[in-house]
Amino acid sequence: MKKGIAASKGYAIGKVFIQEHEEIVINDVKISDIQAEKELLQRALVSAKEQLEKIKAKAAESMGEEKAAVFEAHITLLDDPEFTGAMELEIENNSSNAMKAVADVTNTFVMIFESMEDAYMRERAADIKDVSKRIIANVAGKVDSFEITEENTIVVAHDLTPSDTAQLDRSKVVAFLTNIGGRTSHSAIMARTLEIPAVVGLKDITTSVKNGDIVIVDGIEGTIIVNPEASVIEEYKTKREKFIAEQEELKKLISVKTTTKSGKRVEVCGNIGKPEDVHQVLANGGDGVGLFRTEFLYMDRDSAPTEEEQFESYKYVLEKMEGKQVVIRTLDIGGDKTLPYLPLPEEMNPFLGYRAIRLCLDRKEIFKVQLRALLRASIYGNLCVMFPMISGLEEFLQAKEVVDECKAELKAEGKEYSETTQWGIMVEIPAAAVFADELAKYVDFFSIGTNDLIQYTLAADRMSEKVSYLYNPMHPSVLRLIKMTIEGAHKHGKWVGMCGEMAGDETAIPTLVEYGLDEFSMSASSILNAKKIIMEQ
Ligand code: PEP
Ligand code: MG
Repeated sequence: MKKGIAASKGYAIGKVFIQEHEEIVINDVKISDIQAEKELLQRALVSAKEQLEKIKAKAAESMGEEKAAVFEAHITLLDDPEFTGAMELEIENNSSNAMKAVADVTNTFVMIFESMEDAYMRERAADIKDVSKRIIANVAGKVDSFEITEENTIVVAHDLTPSDTAQLDRSKVVAFLTNIGGRTSHSAIMARTLEIPAVVGLKDITTSVKNGDIVIVDGIEGTIIVNPEASVIEEYKTKREKFIAEQEELKKLISVKTTTKSGKRVEVCGNIGKPEDVHQVLANGGDGVGLFRTEFLYMDRDSAPTEEEQFESYKYVLEKMEGKQVVIRTLDIGGDKTLPYLPLPEEMNPFLGYRAIRLCLDRKEIFKVQLRALLRASIYGNLCVMFPMISGLEEFLQAKEVVDECKAELKAEGKEYSETTQWGIMVEIPAAAVFADELAKYVDFFSIGTNDLIQYTLAADRMSEKVSYLYNPMHPSVLRLIKMTIEGAHKHGKWVGMCGEMAGDETAIPTLVEYGLDEFSMSASSILNAKKIIMEQ
């Protein structure tokens, strides 16, 4: 048995097909017939475009227009005279051969894109590399076409590019395995969209199996078994059948409104970290977004996102959710989440230190950029904003004062915002839970952050393996705090959600329903299962 990273759920049993990209060696040999070389490049560009048009159509059919857009971006690159024109100039001015010209121009473009501030633009460097590989393969006459003819094939590759993944024929390919990649790599995301089981990050899978080997893929545990015994195959066939039947059954719940046996309507929403994650929430029948962890917008970059960038992200989510409720949490940095451009003081206990709302109230210039972006985006949907790590009323009132300041500024600038936005807090510090019935007079809603609430209640660091035995969501003290929070809110007619991991925990859901929790928010792939369990209560 080999263990990798579970990238896409499900089981598969099939025969290995190792996909090898043929190595193309690019040399520096100068050419003498410039015209002929330019024509060779032109033919390669035309063929590349034809191939991409086909891949795009196939992707649109199997994964939807949204996912196919990546290939439209590749086609646009091929049509970009700055990109392809530079290749021609390379041939003309330096007598470069076509492959070398493509490689040199690509390197220049990749360097420019990789040094850009905007994370989205930096990611485009990968698209440029992907397109360039295709052009070079066409110049060399070695286009990778992996025609898979046998059913029950398990594709094994070092890595799969988006175009490789989109070309997988779902009637034949039952799973894929790669040496590299993580849960959020492109191939993993595509596998989840295609609903093909996948295990990535297996390190040496391309050399540890041979073509024709029989392999069992367990996309839930992230394991594979090579050439298993007949009895093990039977065992996994049963598991697969059960899994497929369960998934099919769950899909019936996509558009079902979740109601408990006693008739209470409950919202089941998704947690997101990036704006594009809304698609998974919608595909899994989410009633809304229960937590947008906006700190992810601030990560992997050299400076904080501007008001405009944030506005675009929030507007995107609100518009895609088409009036469904979207709860956006203001910046929760500090603790285990740090930013390279925002140095924080060294502290003995960062989780109890300068973080989240504490930092935002102290660094109003940072906070206001986000609040202005949120207010401006509020007119595009049903927005709720919540503040993280609130310990008492004073912090909430101070935060609301900053909101009022931003509103006044926007008004003076003639910029619109909605007056129906709801303003709430995360209940993740025990003090807030204990004081819930008072806080509920002032806030519009609560969202219980159990990930932190549990660690603070039990004084058990959520990151520590050594004390994980203490980190128990079902501890009576934790349950009592949750109950108090819900009762405190309901006393004043306010709604309560939960966006910590506990909300999707099968064993906790029955108790949470019993306490009267109004909204459950979790990772998109847990939504349907949670709906099912809630409806059984
Ligand atoms: C929580 O604390 O439960 C929560 C949802 O926030 P985070 O996990 O981002 O701290
Ligand atoms: Mg938290």
